[in-house]
Amino acid sequence: KSADSRPAPVISVIGTGYLGATHAAAMAEMGFETIGVDVDPAKLAALSAGQVPFYEPGLPELITKHVASGKLRFTADIASAVAAADVHFVCVGTPQKAGSHAANLAYVESATRGVAENLTHPGLIVGKSTVPVGTAARLRGIVSEFTPAGIDAELIWNPEFLREGKAVEDTLHPDRLVWGGASEAADAVIREVYAAPISEGTPVITTDLATAELVKVSANAFLATKISFINAISEMCAIAGADVTTLADALGHDARIGRKFLNAGLGFGGGCLPKDIRALMHRANEIGAGRVVGLMQQVDEINMGQRQRVIDMAIESAGGSVLNRRIAVVGAAFKPLTDDVRDSPALNVAAALHLRGAQVTLWDPEAMETARRSFPTLTYAGSMTEAIEGADLVLVLTEWDEVVEADPVALAAVVGQRVVIDARNCLPTGRWVGAGWTVRSLGRPTPV
Ligand code: NAD
Repeated sequence: KSADSRPAPVISVIGTGYLGATHAAAMAEMGFETIGVDVDPAKLAALSAGQVPFYEPGLPELITKHVASGKLRFTADIASAVAAADVHFVCVGTPQKAGSHAANLAYVESATRGVAENLTHPGLIVGKSTVPVGTAARLRGIVSEFTPAGIDAELIWNPEFLREGKAVEDTLHPDRLVWGGASEAADAVIREVYAAPISEGTPVITTDLATAELVKVSANAFLATKISFINAISEMCAIAGADVTTLADALGHDARIGRKFLNAGLGFGGGCLPKDIRALMHRANEIGAGRVVGLMQQVDEINMGQRQRVIDMAIESAGGSVLNRRIAVVGAAFKPLTDDVRDSPALNVAAALHLRGAQVTLWDPEAMETARRSFPTLTYAGSMTEAIEGADLVLVLTEWDEVVEADPVALAAVVGQRVVIDARNCLPTGRWVGAGWTVRSLGRPTPV
């Protein structure tokens, strides 16, 4: 119950993918009755059975707990969910449009309309999806057009900053909460919803719609820029014989810079950073912010160029051609602690080598199924050792702990040629070199 003893708001969460499933579970954990809505019946069936259709540490436990407690349920019936709820979080996807850098806003538009037209009593619609600046203002038009006459509806924007792999922790204990466009009444409701993190001292930034939308894309653009910056410097390191890892460690001690997101290597991927910087580029171009366009173009180009650098290094290591060479690829997920292979640099490199005629055998601790679905023609191994057995070349493309901690002596005994490309600069090089391996990496001298 809230302070003035109104009943606590009931929550609906529209879209139960990575963001929505986590948000719904977190809302239930914070004590709210929560209803997750999706259009994908398989996803709903899995979630209702307490199963999470992707790998996210801690999330299955939280969903199971609250499906069992009765606080959390899932349905395809948006009308009943909206009728039962007071606060409606829009968490549907905003993927890159085919053949364009723009974001596809069809899902947020239809989800927003779906909420608005099914409102039976006053509702607060809270957008969480990542959208180009100006989207929320347009969605307000949809809300006023489709909300039944006489019912009060308000739309605010509350971008989400969770990281895949740490999604539960990030949602329960966020670094900051940002929302934009809230009236005094909406502000009170959303504060009630986030009472738990707010009481822990989480900073709250309240602003207008445009700023809220831009905070999210700017955060991702900055992180992407940091990665592409160090990757650009790694090119100079490679040419000059300098070590980009030592350089990044030294830079990182400067509190103004910080060590995070300064790992040179294969670059960023996943369902967010690449499409978010492209959508930013596209929107910046539309509204005439040319500097952002140029900056993001460079960031994207440097990032994609890293994949080519690794492919080139593999070809060179294989003596000029990978045709019929046995290449072990370790890692398929776009980063550790996820099975997400959307725009994964690792899978991208594996597929490129396969297309050049290499016999690629791939292993990942969690992303085997998602990788197989995207690239059924690659060979999949049951373990790192099995992938590496007899290989002419090993590529480490995702920095899983299991991989960083793998025993180079045992692996040396089964591999064909002891050559590894550490495309994430993550291996303890000394141990690998000690076990007889040649370790090649981006922006570090090859140790002897
Ligand atoms: P996702 O593809 O995993 O999930 C989207 C879900 O929405 C799918 O389950 C889909 O079936 C459902 N959906 C589509 N249209 C619908 C509709 N009309 N009604 C109900 N459900 C519908 O995507 P995601 O990774 O969860 O991303 C969602 C949004 O959150 C995106 O804008 C993304 O940029 C943003 N975001 C994602 C992350 C992340 O780490 N994944 C982090 C922060 C923000």
